[in-house]
Amino acid sequence: MPVHARTKVPRCARDDIVFESNIVQRGALRSGCYNSASMSAAPHVPAFPRTIFHVDMDAFFVSVEELYDPSLKGKAVVVGGQRDERGVVSAASYPARKFGVHSALPLRTAAKLCPQAIFVDGHPERYRECSEKVFKVLTSFSPQVEMASIDEAYLDMTGTARLHGPPLKAAHKLHQRMKDETQLNCSIGIGSSRLIAKVSSAQAKPNGVLWIVPGEESRFLAPLDVRAIPGVGKVMESHLHQLGISRVGDLARLEESELEERFGKWGLALAGKARGEDAGGWFDAEVGADTDAKSISHEHTYNEDTADTSQLESTLMRLSEMVGRRLREAKFHARTIQLKLRYKDFTTITRAHTLPAPTQLDGEIFEQVRTLFRKNWKPGRQVRLLGVQASSWEKQAEQISLLEGGKQQRWKDALAVADRLRDKFGESSVSLAAGLRGGFRERTHENPAGLPGKGKTKPE
Ligand SMILES: [Mg+2]
Repeated sequence: MPVHARTKVPRCARDDIVFESNIVQRGALRSGCYNSASMSAAPHVPAFPRTIFHVDMDAFFVSVEELYDPSLKGKAVVVGGQRDERGVVSAASYPARKFGVHSALPLRTAAKLCPQAIFVDGHPERYRECSEKVFKVLTSFSPQVEMASIDEAYLDMTGTARLHGPPLKAAHKLHQRMKDETQLNCSIGIGSSRLIAKVSSAQAKPNGVLWIVPGEESRFLAPLDVRAIPGVGKVMESHLHQLGISRVGDLARLEESELEERFGKWGLALAGKARGEDAGGWFDAEVGADTDAKSISHEHTYNEDTADTSQLESTLMRLSEMVGRRLREAKFHARTIQLKLRYKDFTTITRAHTLPAPTQLDGEIFEQVRTLFRKNWKPGRQVRLLGVQASSWEKQAEQISLLEGGKQQRWKDALAVADRLRDKFGESSVSLAAGLRGGFRERTHENPAGLPGKGKTKPE
């Protein structure tokens, strides 16, 4: 029995599709995981295995930029700003990645690693627009869709075989529809848990579909690097290396109690993950269930460090507006507002404040973050980066606000108008900070750090 069935999705040719569906057939028949007759013959396969898809857009920001400027296709492209700017890379094309360029790397470092790269400014409004199209396609396949970031989502496809066919066939259908509706490529990982789906979509990249047959999870994971497990970062990797563990298989062979002893609760979760289970943190929740580990944040790195109070505060205003807008888009109210402040020497502090009542209003977010800033910034000290984050959110239609009723409604109406203008004319068209020195391009990361699977479960 094969561990998995992997297919590269054809570009578009019709006969390719026929060829691919043969592979689908063979893969499925060999594995027998959706056929009830052969399922009963396989002892480890539960009667109705969960079928989770992890759909991840390929080089999303770059691909969206290519739609607007096809001459970028196939070239080393860095999205996020110009080569001499101080910000960081939002996304890199596959040819640029070959030179070691990746997101969150300083733009100037990227320029050194890959001097021939084309640097383009990011367009968050374009990415959001495409992300909405992606979401629409996904919801036409399953009612249980959870966007894990702007360009990736989990779908619970359990019980959809009658409608969409067996997993690989459904995935190919989804892949094709995604291409038709968005002109974008994605990769799809299929597994019996979110963890397996996520790990397999990474292995399927780019533009592939990979299904891990139920019962074969451990065999699939064993040869992979421990870093392939979501949540295992550099720090955990080095801890594990010290124990002589470099592959997931090494990890799976360890006693659960040993991992628990060394790493506590997180060690237990790690043991579960090594077996392919959804264990620890957000992986525990069902697809589509509310998880409170999420946050929305925006940051700005200055091209020149600054200690100018009005510039710094108007930046905070712009960041608050951006966060507020995202909250309103997601129909969330946040209770915790956090300031991130990085000085010239890279010393970084974060300070958070929890509000008595949750909010999604720019002005309320700004007021909190400015208070935190005034309390914690040492006047005169040069600032390199500012960030505003909103978290612990609640999905509620109506909230008692810090502002009294009528005033709050007027704010809401005004913000709704501003949001519509921004939709039409771009993110910086309307701003309370306009005219001040806080104007700058919005930066967004394809896979921001605060989202599920991005280090939330790390012990440090
Ligand atoms: Mg992606």
